[in-house]
Amino acid sequence: MNIFETVKAAVPVRQAAEHYGLKVNRNGMACCPFHNDRHPSLKLNEEYFFCFGCGATGDVIEFTAKLFDLGSLQAAQRLAVDFGISTEQGQAVATSRKPKHPHIRQFREDEMFCFRVLTDYLHLLEDWKVQYAPKTPEDDLDDRFVEACQMLERIEYLTDILTVGDLEERVAVVEELMKDSTVAFLQDYTARKREEDVRFERGNDAGHAL
Ligand SMILES: [Zn+2]
Repeated sequence: MNIFETVKAAVPVRQAAEHYGLKVNRNGMACCPFHNDRHPSLKLNEEYFFCFGCGATGDVIEFTAKLFDLGSLQAAQRLAVDFGISTEQGQAVATSRKPKHPHIRQFREDEMFCFRVLTDYLHLLEDWKVQYAPKTPEDDLDDRFVEACQMLERIEYLTDILTVGDLEERVAVVEELMKDSTVAFLQDYTARKREEDVRFERGNDAGHAL
């Protein structure tokens, strides 16, 4: 057997996925690392994986190659080393292996957090743009309407990158948002503004009731 056959026979895709940080549920489903996946849409079997979200599919070697951006041989070698499978090629690579994205799990968590916060804010802006739009040309512009007009495009752009951008672009966006707790601030801000809106609406309802 060559290294490919040896590794494929020895390591189920699911086991490799778990080893490399994916959380796999009882049905063998996990959040897909190959697209921005908020609900598990990646199916992991013994011999292959398939994503219902982005269509990614392959065997354990292809999975590892895609995850760490490696060639097939490097991926097979990495699996051999990580799962203690002895092949000559596997031994040879033991000292030189270095994951290209060593913090992929942390990155995915950060990315999902950023995505959630961005979409929350985006929805708030979309609401504001309608809710606080001037009714007549003479109306003063509401601050929230102005903010929506100014920010919508930028926030849409960022969420688009996190949805369809390549890894490098996504890393750049996530780094930018995590820096100086920008994203944490945005999360608080969105929650606070939402609450103000709700209070305002309740106030209006109370007014009508009287
Ligand atoms: Zn996917």
